[in-house]
Amino acid sequence: MPRSESIHCDVLVIGAGMAGMAAALFAAKRDRAVVQVGIPGEIIYASGLFDVLGVHPIEKGRLWRNPWAAVKSVSRGLPNHPYARMSVSDIQTALHELLSFLADAGLPYRRYKNRNVDLITPAGTTKRSYAVPQNMWPGVIAWQHKRKCLLVDFPGMKGFSARQIQSVLRGRWPGLRTASVPFPEPSTCQYPEKMAFSLHQPGNREKLATAVAPLIGDAKGVGFPAILGSHRTVEVVDHLRKRIGVPVFEVPTLPPAVTGMRLKDAFDRSLPSIGVRALYHKKVLQVNTDRKGRFECHIGSEHPELIVHAKAAILATGRFIGQGLVADRKHIRESLFDLPVSQPENRTRWHETDFLDPRGHAINTAGIEIDDSFRPLNSKGRPAYERLYAAGSILAHADWIRMKCGSGLAIATAYAAVNAYLRQLQ
Ligand SMILES: Cc1cc2nc3c(=O)[nH]c(=O)nc-3n(C[C@H](O)[C@H](O)[C@H](O)COP(=O)(O)OP(=O)(O)OC[C@H]3O[C@@H](n4cnc5c(N)ncnc54)[C@H](O)[C@@H]3O)c2cc1C
Repeated sequence: MPRSESIHCDVLVIGAGMAGMAAALFAAKRDRAVVQVGIPGEIIYASGLFDVLGVHPIEKGRLWRNPWAAVKSVSRGLPNHPYARMSVSDIQTALHELLSFLADAGLPYRRYKNRNVDLITPAGTTKRSYAVPQNMWPGVIAWQHKRKCLLVDFPGMKGFSARQIQSVLRGRWPGLRTASVPFPEPSTCQYPEKMAFSLHQPGNREKLATAVAPLIGDAKGVGFPAILGSHRTVEVVDHLRKRIGVPVFEVPTLPPAVTGMRLKDAFDRSLPSIGVRALYHKKVLQVNTDRKGRFECHIGSEHPELIVHAKAAILATGRFIGQGLVADRKHIRESLFDLPVSQPENRTRWHETDFLDPRGHAINTAGIEIDDSFRPLNSKGRPAYERLYAAGSILAHADWIRMKCGSGLAIATAYAAVNAYLRQLQ
């Protein structure tokens, strides 16, 4: 059998979702030698919005305007929630650092310091979030002040109908008008990612602006589905704004979305440039530890192709979509280290009978337990490994979909895990 290649590093980040990307960033920026393994597949499903915390308690459906007040309330009311192990200022620093990195990678975000915002969704409903891609920001302001706006869609583009959005919002945004215009390259219409690519050609932007400008009338802004460029999108939007003459904004689309692809692209390009050795499209297949507690990880697609020797590891393998958790007919298991998973006693308790039950479903808070240093616990309630840390949606007690805390929780817990590791080195 050929000898496997060996790599040595300080930290192995296992996972390439938002938590893994953030952990790799924070560790590399602190001069650690980082290897990251995982398939960044799910990130393209993400909306590109960064929620910190929007809803708590879930059963009351209370919406929060100030995310930091919401975090403090969660820390008091849910002491096992991962946010309860962090300070608000650490969460703020984590977000600031990650958003600065994305801005440098050509993907700037906008936010208010202490305030969640509302955006319109492709279903015509509204969604509360914290940090939003800069290209969506004029839409946030337009909705906030109910400014007269034009919303444009493209015949043939599935999953985005300006008229449907308008008909749902009609009573709440009377100044919203709609228009359907042919996309400059008709053959690309059905595929959002191709449409996004094609708008990097100035000639296509000119055609689009020429079609939309005469329809503006008294509108103070114009919204498009979020396909205005696959990268360097600010350039695309600026060009359209100058040509059309009013602020241009993007409205989120259904997953898989161009906004998620932009995130993936920004991380893929920029993490290696700060020293992260990225082994995307591979998985950790097996982990052993040596007498000093170091990890020997066998990496590959289906069969081991190389071995990574790591002094520490950060587990960011997600839940069921990411496959960090797997479920059989009776139990939920953690897939790599076989860590205990906090879960209801039996399967009948996983879900309530009513899908829309305001309390949510217990399965969504199943996950691994950690100590204050974000180390997963074994069945005796002690750290399972001295230098194994965990971050992201694999952690127990956080129903991120209902609480609207997905990306914020992933980024903040990655920051906490990296800092706990650095503290342990001192
Ligand atoms: C459809 C959708 C919409 C979303 N919308 C929003 C939103 O509007 N706002 C918001 O804030 N958040 C949103 N999120 C959530 C946000 O993306 C979360 O932060 C995320 O899902 C949780 O991140 P994670 O990194 O913990 O897990 P995941 O994203 O699930 O990533 C897990 C990673 O672990 C890897 N992995 C698993 N097993 C192994 C192994 N053995 N070896 C190596 N790698 C492994 C997987 O390949 C994957 O890369 C959305 C997510 C989805 C799916």
